[in-house]
This record gives sequence, C-alpha cells and structure tokens, in this order.
Amino acid sequence: MAEIPDKIQTWQMVQPTSKNRETGELTPGRLEKKEIPVPELGLGDVLVEIAGCGVCHTDLGFFYDGVPNVNTPPLTLGHEIAGTVVAGDEKWIGKEVIIPAVMPCRKCLLCKTGRGNRCLNQKMPGNSLGIYGGFSSHIPVPSVDLCEIKDRKGIPLSHFAVIADAATTPYQAVKRANLQPGDNVVVVGITGGVGQYVGQISKALGAKTVIGVARNQEKLDRALKFGADFVINSTDKDARAISKEFRNICKEHGLPNFGWKIFEVTGTKPGQDIALTMLGFTGKLVVVGFGLAKVEYAIGRLMAFDAEIIGTWGCLPEYYPIVLDMVLNGKINIEEFVETRPMSTIAETFAEAHKVPPIKRIVLEPDF
Ligand SMILES: [Zn+2]
Ligand SMILES: [Zn+2]
Repeated sequence: MAEIPDKIQTWQMVQPTSKNRETGELTPGRLEKKEIPVPELGLGDVLVEIAGCGVCHTDLGFFYDGVPNVNTPPLTLGHEIAGTVVAGDEKWIGKEVIIPAVMPCRKCLLCKTGRGNRCLNQKMPGNSLGIYGGFSSHIPVPSVDLCEIKDRKGIPLSHFAVIADAATTPYQAVKRANLQPGDNVVVVGITGGVGQYVGQISKALGAKTVIGVARNQEKLDRALKFGADFVINSTDKDARAISKEFRNICKEHGLPNFGWKIFEVTGTKPGQDIALTMLGFTGKLVVVGFGLAKVEYAIGRLMAFDAEIIGTWGCLPEYYPIVLDMVLNGKINIEEFVETRPMSTIAETFAEAHKVPPIKRIVLEPDF
C-alpha cells in the first residue's frame, strides 16, 4: 500500500511566458520543482498518488501562448491524470483511478440540465483547482467524479491518463454531434492527440465512413489503421482543393453529398477554413479545437444547407467509464498512442512538444 506523504512534490509553473507589449520582447516561462504541504482533506476528498499525467496542447497554451489560467500562477499544470487513492474517503483508498479533466459543480442549472461539461463553476486540475495540477507526486481531488479502473488488463496505470481529456473530449464531441451508426464523418486534424480518438471513437460507435485530413503522412498512414477509411494530406493545399478531393472520394465510393458530420480539431485558421468549406447540405460542423484565429464565412450558407455549426467543451465525468470500457474491450486503442517519460524532463518535454507536435501523447511519470 502506498504511503501518505508529508509533502507533495510538484513542478510549479512559477511564471508563464510573457511578452512585453511595447518591445515585443519575450520573457521565458519558468517551471520550478517545489515541495508544498499536503492540504487538510475535506469531506469526500481524496489524495491521489499520481502514476502519470499527459502533456496536452492546453498546458502548452498556458505556458507559452498567453492563454490565462483561471487561478493565477504560481500553480501546477496538468489535467490528464491517472493514479492511486492513498488518503481521504475510506471507500476509495487503494483504488486505481482516472481523474476527470473537468469536474462539474453538480449544483447549478447547467449541471442539472445535462450540460455539466460546461458548468461555469467546474474545477480543472492545472487550471482552476487551486494551485494543484497533475505534474506532481500527489493531488487532492473530490472523489465524487473519479473513474475507477477495476482491471487494467496489463496496461500500465500511467497510460490511462490519456483517457482524461485526450480520449474523453472526443466522446463528448461525438455525443454532441448526435453521431448515429451509419453516419459519415470527417475529422480535420485526425493525426493529433485528440483528433485520432475522434476517428477511433466515431468508428467504434458505428460510423460508416471516417475521412481524416491532416499534414503528416506518417501519422495519416497510422490513422488508416485506427478508424480512418480515407485520408487527405492537406500539405500545401488550400481549402477548396481539399474540398474537391473530398467530393471526389464521395463520388468514387458512392458516398452521399449531404449529412456529413465534420469535426474540426486543430483550432487553427487553415483547419477551420477546410472544415467550413467542406460543410454541405444537412451537415454538422463540430468545433473541438480551440484557437484565437478569426475566419470569414457566409453564414447564409447554413440556411441554404439546412446545416449547423456547434462547439463542444470537455466531457461529463459520467462518460469516463464508457470510454474506459471501450479501451479495455479493445474498441479503441491507447497503447499505440502513448509515450512515457520521467516527470523530471518536464521542461525539455514542454519545449519539444511546443516546437513539433509529438507522434504520441507524452505522459510524464513522477520521478522528481
Ligand atoms: Zn488536455
Ligand atoms: Zn455546475
């Protein structure tokens, strides 16, 4: 049985990267190894010993790109966490768990009307859970939303960290899209840490066709093994050229020119342009990726197409056990998409992942 520590070891973001408004000069962000006290646990709270925490694009946005945290730094980043409960609520002690990336308040009108994934009082480790985040030895969290892993079938516990956010946000997105068996799906950004799960989960839930769009051919080839039926390499092509390729695939394979559900996962302007250009009759565009870019679109087309554009955020904790089951039953694969590294490499790992999107999701395992 794991021990209750005296202190929590953690890699705090003391300061995010900042830019001088006048000179444009960048001051690099700072991550520092710290020891912080183990807090008094409230009723229903537990202390989780962290096995692994995934490095997400969102963390890099906080650290490098001026995306503000709800709780101002210093705080610890990281919201994709798996670990073992070591203290607090007795019925949880010793259990292996996934901590949901966003934990709703369960009291507000949004929560009561099924929209808890976008609860305005929600807590997210590494953002709005006080100073606590996943790049730590331990984290205090409420137990109510924990997802228990009863039998991990030989998969290392740390790998389950990717289910928090990377694999569950896509599940919420396909639910939001009301994906039905037989639907046809496009995933713009199918090679990314989140995008590839949109492809896998759509297929697992019965999508007839999944078409992936992205730039990295090696990762596109991998997508063909995990959910995608066709891929389009978007390198050096504009949105119209890609849309034409898409229509050609439809023609050649007898696929309809209406009703496509298009998921935009890149959060970039080129990705959004592609998705909007592909949106057609009775189509649905689901915005999964976040970015600050602005795009131009004749919204009158939505009327002519009888089409929709919707956004989706996070994932309800009640969906986590469903996604966990899909992983354990082999309906979706996480093992091919995870790489683990010691948590002490956090600074180098952040820098590397910020420069070039990694081939696999990097999960940091505490070694300090
Ligand atoms: Zn994430
Ligand atoms: Zn709420």
